[in-house]
Amino acid sequence: MGSFSALPAAAKRLQGKVALITGGASGIGKATARLFRAHGAKVVIADIQDGPGRSVSADLGGPSDCLYVRCDVTEESDVRDAVDAAVSTFGKLDVIHNNAGVIDPLTPLAETGKSHFERVLAVNLTGSFLGTKHAARVMVPNRRGSIVMTASASSVIGSVNMSVTHAYTISKHGLLGLMRNAAAELGQFGVRVNCVSPYGLATPLTKKAWSFAGDAEVEEAYGRYAALKGATLRAEDVAYAVLYLASEEAKYVSGHNLAVDGGFTSSVCVPSNYSFSDKK
Ligand code: NAD
Repeated sequence: MGSFSALPAAAKRLQGKVALITGGASGIGKATARLFRAHGAKVVIADIQDGPGRSVSADLGGPSDCLYVRCDVTEESDVRDAVDAAVSTFGKLDVIHNNAGVIDPLTPLAETGKSHFERVLAVNLTGSFLGTKHAARVMVPNRRGSIVMTASASSVIGSVNMSVTHAYTISKHGLLGLMRNAAAELGQFGVRVNCVSPYGLATPLTKKAWSFAGDAEVEEAYGRYAALKGATLRAEDVAYAVLYLASEEAKYVSGHNLAVDGGFTSSVCVPSNYSFSDKK
């Protein structure tokens, strides 16, 4: 990703907005923070990685434009404080991107440890619930706001053979329920709630989970199963989907799960070396 640069004023889609991004120190959250800053937003990065979080903050203008706060999304007091920090530092909260996530080791169901299962649910689902709850607390009185969760292709399909664990799939399916219920309740207050659901891409999460050496190796592995060929999903592509849902261009979009998966979840994928035309 290149260094941060702002756009001309007329092109900025989040000018004057304040956004909180959980898991903003890395991967998709970091790309979203960068894109949001380029589009004029003040950003709060909430993460548990202090070094990378502070470095993203410094890179995007320092605490007066991009504030890092330590926040474990599984702790309600941390999430409450992060939301309050956005309001006390920048005056309001327009957007929350509930994005922090983890995945557990892939094991058969019978060997999946309860503690691993609960940790994934705690970060991916409870963390997003707490973010949604506390964002709503400050958005509802303002009668506007956009809540976006990073779900996954795993929000709509099961995927053990693609190395997606039970806990992860369950947590991402759960996010759709959270998104739909929150959208149903908060719409009357002008608050929109949506998900983005990416296919697999190279981030520290995927590299660590499957012991890949580098980005190219991850991309090659996902590319083998991708429905869309000739393009590679990057964190910036997901950030653009979040930007759309956060912006006024999506002012009537709520309760939607926006797939950023090259058609993966809407098709049955066969290996790329197989074709029905071979059978003629
Ligand atoms: P990443 O590891 O680069 O980023 C995740 C961030 O979440 C990290 O900065 C991490 O420190 C933070 N985090 C973890 N636990 C936390 C906690 N308890 N409190 C606060 N922050 C915490 O990975 P990523 O791929 O950018 O993941 C971002 C989101 O995208 C996750 O929800 C993930 O499930 C989802 N996602 C990723 C992929 C993929 O292939 N990489 C695909 C679909 C969805």
